[in-house]
This record gives sequence, structure tokens and C-alpha cells, in this order.
Amino acid sequence: MRVLVVEDEPGLRRQVSRALSEAGFSVDEAPDGEEGEFLGDTEPYDAVVLDLGLPKIDGITVLKHWRTAGRDMPVLILTARDGWNEKVAGFDAGADDYLTKPFHVEELLARVRALIRRSAGHASPILECGPVSLDTRAGKVTIDGASVTLTAHELKVLSYFMHHQDRVVSQTELIEHIYDQDFDRDSNTIEVFIARLRKKLAPDLIKTHRGRGYSMSATGEGT
Ligand code: CA
Repeated sequence: MRVLVVEDEPGLRRQVSRALSEAGFSVDEAPDGEEGEFLGDTEPYDAVVLDLGLPKIDGITVLKHWRTAGRDMPVLILTARDGWNEKVAGFDAGADDYLTKPFHVEELLARVRALIRRSAGHASPILECGPVSLDTRAGKVTIDGASVTLTAHELKVLSYFMHHQDRVVSQTELIEHIYDQDFDRDSNTIEVFIARLRKKLAPDLIKTHRGRGYSMSATGEGT
């Protein structure tokens, strides 16, 4: 899962980005509204953390532009204390959630996880697909109740499939959602991750659709 952090305060931006990275997200950063808007327009994010008080273009305007252009990724806005009118303006502009500064980074992580799973149609933080279970809070994976150890990248790939079950995910989509902007992307590594996941979890867990991509489904189907 890939998250964009738009925040002009360098210390806070780094703190939020680091916490998200440590929690298993791929993270891109923007220090102002202009760069933030551009990234949100050109890269497919699973969620955005958007400060409202930003240089160049303010957060509300950025959000309005995205929504007008039909960009529907979940957006969590960061508002000033006592900024109830900012929150109203933010929700009216298309925000999905908010946090008031200062906040605990654990709360931000929990809200981002909830936004991502809800936008993918999952209410529970524990995602299941047949015998495989993923606890999104702790990044813990089990198969038939037995815990499985995955590398950070294997977990990113599995998490994307678990959030988007029963449909074919192309290799390009997968690459765009598991790597950040600066990562050296090599499509061959995706095949390696899939092979390792099949070996560690179940051989028939992830289905290959020749020329189209991969799917994960409890019923073995993919559309
Ligand atoms: Ca700010």
C-alpha cells in the first residue's frame, strides 16, 4: 500500500513518513500543495495524509482539485487545534477523515489503515482469504492458524492482494502500489515475490492470468 504525505513542516513530515514506512507502507512526500497536487494527480495512492496549511496551494484547494478531477483515493486531513471550520471545509471538499494537530502517530497509522481497508470494502482489520489471514494492525500472517514469516516486500504484495481479492491485478498496478516513487522498480522481482508467497503460503493461492496479471481469491476464481 502506497501513501502520500503532504506536509510543509519538515520534522513532522519525516516523523509521519517514517512511522508509515515502519508500518509497512510505501511513502512519497511533498513539502507544498503544488507538488502534493501533482503527485496525487499522477501516482496511484491508496491513501493521502494532507496538511491543510500549505505553501503554494492550500490543502482544501488541492483536495477540491483532486475530487473535481475524479480522484477518489481516501484523504485524511491534518487540521489546526480548534479548527472546527477547517474540518467542515475539509469534509465538504471531499476529505474522508481528519486528525487535529498535535496527534499521536499511532492514531494516524490506525486511521490510515482503516481508510485503506474501508475503501477496499473491508470492515474488519483482520483480512481473510481461504486459509490465509492477515492482521493489518500488526502485519501478522497466518495460514490455517499457523504463523508465517514474510519479508517486508512479500508482506506488501500479500497485503495488496488481500485488500483486492477476487479480481485480476496487473503487474503494473502491483508495482505502482508497493513501491514508492524513488524505488528502483524491476518487474522481475514481482514474479519472485509471488513465487515465494506461493511457496510459503499455498501453491494455488495466487493465480496467474497469462498476459493480464494475478488474482487471489478464496474460491480460486478471478475476474
Ligand atoms: Ca502546515
